[in-house]
Amino acid sequence: MDERRAVEQPGGRQAMGGAEESQRLIPLHGFQRVLGTFGEEDEGPLFLITAGIHGNERAGVEAVQRVFAALREAQGTPAGRFKGRCVAFAGNLKGLRAGVRFIDQDLNRLWTKKGIARLLAGDPSLDDAEEAEARELLGCFEKELGRARGKVLIMDLHTSSADGPPFSCMGDTIPNRKLAFALPVPVILGLEEAIDGAMLDWFYEQGHVAIAVEGGKHQARETVDNLEAMIWIALVASGNLHERDLPRLGDFKRLLEREVRGIPHILEIRYREVIRPGEKFHMIPGFKTFDRIQKGTPLAEKDGEVLRATEDGYVLLPLYQGQGEDGFFIGRRVPRFWLLVASLLRRLHASRLLPLLPGVRPHPEKKDRFLVDPKIARWGTVQVFHLLGYRRRRPEGDQLVFSRRPQW
Ligand SMILES: [Zn+2]
Repeated sequence: MDERRAVEQPGGRQAMGGAEESQRLIPLHGFQRVLGTFGEEDEGPLFLITAGIHGNERAGVEAVQRVFAALREAQGTPAGRFKGRCVAFAGNLKGLRAGVRFIDQDLNRLWTKKGIARLLAGDPSLDDAEEAEARELLGCFEKELGRARGKVLIMDLHTSSADGPPFSCMGDTIPNRKLAFALPVPVILGLEEAIDGAMLDWFYEQGHVAIAVEGGKHQARETVDNLEAMIWIALVASGNLHERDLPRLGDFKRLLEREVRGIPHILEIRYREVIRPGEKFHMIPGFKTFDRIQKGTPLAEKDGEVLRATEDGYVLLPLYQGQGEDGFFIGRRVPRFWLLVASLLRRLHASRLLPLLPGVRPHPEKKDRFLVDPKIARWGTVQVFHLLGYRRRRPEGDQLVFSRRPQW
């Protein structure tokens, strides 16, 4: 028995078990929308978890099942002391049952304001597979949010087709940082800007704390362990569990630290390779997330053309499966110092000075938005907006658009 499998849970149960256990867990519970609930609707935090929003990413479901089994077992003991409430949902139920990322469309791409408004105005009997999933999830989320009396946090669990260590993704707000930096894994900034309509956007827009975590390769056993460790650590960071009631907290942290040794703490997305319908994409074999690459490194082939790295950096989420519209991302290290500068500037409300930058003007119709003329704006303008807690939106004509995040 290796070290990882020997880690025991507060209830005395071996909650970080291996493949045999996971094979037992899934058939027992099947895939249901509500994977687990724990705790009371008191003043404490509401911690929501979503797993399998991509149906071929089952490891998150297993991780959630382990956590809830351990919580239930610990009930009535000090380890079962729990503030607030934790609820976990399965994302793409039909996808999970079929073992595919999605049936008709990516469930993690239809949560734009417009998309949700269109969905709610539409006839449910005409929903495609993922619209029906989104409609049901939305109902579940709203029910929970309506009852919440404390702060709300959400963690969305993912896995990937390539090998690679665990990491988290977040929109850079101070409350998100608190949760993401509690996990000893690299944090990737700007993925939510690169991807339109991710489910977490819906939560961001309402000002909730929302981060996504990647556990590793889809079927790897470590992936479930990594996701489970991240859930436990997050439950302590959120205030649902007290550190002293989770004696194995240190083990979970060490497990993750081992997985991410040598990788920068913070990276930002610099490039996204989009695969459009009909395009033939082939990632060159052997890349893992966080592999270092030099500008010009051949990474993939698309419609017979070689795609090379646009700059030095790290390759992220290289696509080694049929379904998916992101071929790969390129990230670059962000010095922690910059994040400190960013919080300071936000506290000083430095965004008041934004209209003084060349090429930048307030949006004529929308509050808290700016238009940027890329022909006039200086190099670094995008970075300044990021520092000040703004997020890049879809461009309007040839103008870049930035909006302030609901909570900085
Ligand atoms: Zn995913």
